[in-house]
Amino acid sequence: MNTDLEAAAAVIPGFVEKAPLERYVDPDRPSLVGRSRAHLAAALGQLGLPQAQRKMRVQQLWHWLYVRGVTSFDAMTSISKELRAALEQRFTVARPEVVAEQVSVDGTRKWLLRLPGENPNERPHEVECVYIPETGRGTLCISSQVGCTLNCTFCHTGTQRLVRNLTAGEIVGQIMVARDRLGDWPGERAPEGAIVPTDGGRFVTNIVMMGMGEPLYNFEAVRDALLVVADNEGIAISKRKITVSTSGVVPNIRRTGEEIGVMLAVSLHAVRNDLRDELVPLNRKYPIEALLEACRNYPGLTNAKRITFEYVMLNGVNDSLADAKALVKLLAGIPAKINLIPFNPWPGAIHECSDWETIEKFSEVVFNAGYSAPVRTPRGRDILAACGQLKSATEKLSARERMALRAMAMTE
Ligand code: SAH
Ligand code: SF4
Repeated sequence: MNTDLEAAAAVIPGFVEKAPLERYVDPDRPSLVGRSRAHLAAALGQLGLPQAQRKMRVQQLWHWLYVRGVTSFDAMTSISKELRAALEQRFTVARPEVVAEQVSVDGTRKWLLRLPGENPNERPHEVECVYIPETGRGTLCISSQVGCTLNCTFCHTGTQRLVRNLTAGEIVGQIMVARDRLGDWPGERAPEGAIVPTDGGRFVTNIVMMGMGEPLYNFEAVRDALLVVADNEGIAISKRKITVSTSGVVPNIRRTGEEIGVMLAVSLHAVRNDLRDELVPLNRKYPIEALLEACRNYPGLTNAKRITFEYVMLNGVNDSLADAKALVKLLAGIPAKINLIPFNPWPGAIHECSDWETIEKFSEVVFNAGYSAPVRTPRGRDILAACGQLKSATEKLSARERMALRAMAMTE
């Protein structure tokens, strides 16, 4: 992938992409959280468990990890004491470490998670994950990378220098953390004040990969993680309730449909190549025509299973009525939903959000063309949890502010 990116950067003028670090090594006692059945079977093999017993033991581990959400091997009472002790010696069931938790006045919750650096001398990495409760559902927005190699002009994550891919375990780990903190496991209690969004059901009902990073540039880990999340004997979130958002990594769009089978969201943001080249520089490599062609051919696409096109409203940049008309024309024939996102400003951003009247007029054109055009209301603004603001705030915190955040997490 790196060489591919470098080649692209070399041939496309102005196309600057950062290369991700790929030096992650498992710690001495790796966590089994987020691992596939095959991986768990291999782990049991390492402990010397005979092949014939592995399948049954994997089933048990799977249940304890993903249905019950236990946080120690000791709690896995259907597994023999000897095997539990052997597991404990070689592995953990650790989740990413939560260094801060913030709760917005609108019920949005944001967790700052610390992930190990590539070696003990390096600063640990941090990602954020955001929970957004709504009536009838609770959506967890998770990250696929620390930072992002792409440099979309309106996105704060893109300004982060350091990039590393998350492992499948770290991706699933975000869901485990959210469910831990929300008391979202059988027999657990919700934190005070939290309202379960579903009737007697679960907190986390939907997953969107719209946090930090470009999921389709970390395809294998994202695929392996989402297959664990969707497994109906485990966490069991239906593939229709999982959405992967991409800025347009065309070659991996088909693979997303074929190998993962989840819902797709595409960050379009502009209807002309000259403008999209600027806003989403990846467009220079995969222009609008190629992107929409891949969308038309998205495996499993039907009217009941549409692609969501995201469109960030940037004042005076992409928000004219002509743009709105061109947008609906461009998407004609593709089973689509359109999500207009008010731009979330961040310190140093070169854009402004379109004014409300402009957004309304724009959405009217989209609505009249037959699309429901909900304007995604920014959630959790008071805790900087809205799109494109992830991580950015914490990165700029002083040591004192960081400590205050950490203290907040401890007293929660
Ligand atoms: N890299 C992927 C997924 C993460 S970004 C992608 O680009 O699709 C998730 C969504 O937030 C994308 O639609 C992105 O364009 C949007 N976004 C990024 N920064 C934003 C900002 N400052 N205001 C509003 N939306 C933003
Ligand atoms: Fe990366 Fe998505 Fe942000 Fe673009 S919008 S820089 S692809 S995270």
